[in-house]
Amino acid sequence: MLARSLDPLLGVPEATRQAFEEWYRQAKIAQIRYVAFLTMVLYLIYAGIEQNVESDQPFARLLIHALLVPGALLAIGLLSFYPRRQSWMLGLLTVAPIVSVVANLYFNFGTPRFALYAPEIYLNLMWTFAISGLALKRAMGTSLVSLAAILLVTLEDSLAPGPQRLHLIWILASFSFGLLSAIMLERAHKLMFLHQGSLERSANLDSLTGLWNRSCTQRFLADEVERANRYGTRFSVVLIDIDHFKQVNDTHGHAVGDKVLCQFAALLRDSVRVVDRVGRLGGEEFLILLPEIGARQAQLAVKALQRRINGFEFDTVQSKTASFGIAEYRAGESADSLMLRADQALYRAKAAGRDCIEVL
Ligand code: GH3
Ligand code: MG
Ligand code: MG
Repeated sequence: MLARSLDPLLGVPEATRQAFEEWYRQAKIAQIRYVAFLTMVLYLIYAGIEQNVESDQPFARLLIHALLVPGALLAIGLLSFYPRRQSWMLGLLTVAPIVSVVANLYFNFGTPRFALYAPEIYLNLMWTFAISGLALKRAMGTSLVSLAAILLVTLEDSLAPGPQRLHLIWILASFSFGLLSAIMLERAHKLMFLHQGSLERSANLDSLTGLWNRSCTQRFLADEVERANRYGTRFSVVLIDIDHFKQVNDTHGHAVGDKVLCQFAALLRDSVRVVDRVGRLGGEEFLILLPEIGARQAQLAVKALQRRINGFEFDTVQSKTASFGIAEYRAGESADSLMLRADQALYRAKAAGRDCIEVL
């Protein structure tokens, strides 16, 4: 329960998780870039002040604080412009905080001025978790290594009586604040990702049947027309209308009508190929898009579909038939003109007594 509320992606399909991680990585790139450049500038200022006030190991300090760490940050910022170099960027970002923590401990621990330099360590832990742009898992890895180094070097001294004990509370605070904010940040992004996905789905799906809705189906049709004109591929459409559907509502009520629509939609969806698109245009009218298929093959597919529909036992109403209008796309014509032919074919099927298939 707690794990679920902290990680909203727990239990979702692996593909969704991967899609989130990819999206999250891309979304974080700008953050990584600006944080890296800002931190580089701050390190250069830090190195300048340090050189003024510190006589112990000035050269090594200069090397680390004015060259190595800012150099790594500059590289991270520059690599963020190259999508193919993202793994290098993340690698450097994972290691750089550990290097600066270790350098700090090496230069300052055991000297009377450690208390003045220690804030870099505390900030470093918070920075890694909440500011750097690293994803939670990676930030956790980096921070745990830094924490281990800090405790290894400072724990014995910090446990001894004296004000240096406060060091431990600052470490605990910076690690736990950092970790909590990283978890909360990632949780918020996961929720946003899921929400965005469900919004996209509800904008594209018909709420009763779960088929593609009218506007989405029209978009697919426009795409197919464009593809056919560009690559010379063929495709067909099938317009389907349930026969005497009004009677269902009139005799059994709207709820039964809805149930029949859902069962009919499921039949259509289960009868087509993976590449075909089935949409509900409205009421009891449906459209199937059949890519790479001409009118003759479409007719065979529709005959099989018709057999399935006629053999199906619908709830309450038992049997139901439908009429079908088929049209194959003609090079250069518009989607509207294709749909007009499918509509005319459907009209003919109705006029021919219904439960018929017509091609135009
Ligand atoms: P035909 O064989 O000529 O197609 O006759 P029909 O009765 O199927 O055609 P008509 O267009 O007269 O009726 C369609 C009916 O579909 C009218 C409307 O009440 C019903 N309908 C439209 N949308 C829905 C819906 O979402 N749920 C239900 N239950 N009925 C719907
Ligand atoms: Mg009808
Ligand atoms: Mg109708």
